[in-house]
Amino acid sequence: MSFRIEIETDDCMSSGKCVADYPGVFFFDDEELAALVPDARLTDEEIIKVARNCPSRAILVFDENNDQVDT
Ligand code: SF4
Repeated sequence: MSFRIEIETDDCMSSGKCVADYPGVFFFDDEELAALVPDARLTDEEIIKVARNCPSRAILVFDENNDQVDT
């Protein structure tokens, strides 16, 4: 499996959880919304974990077929 993340920035409440847990993968953009560092990698397990820990459920996970994964 090779999951990937999309951030629904309309839903991001800027909690900073993802940025604090994985500072090499997430950062705050100029609007203080979470963004992804290009080419940064997480394991599938880490991706599921960070999605589950987002308080506003703004981190969406997709599999290699581009189907959304339940988190
Ligand atoms: S954990 Fe969720 S709400 Fe918090 S900064 Fe990251 S994407 Fe935004």
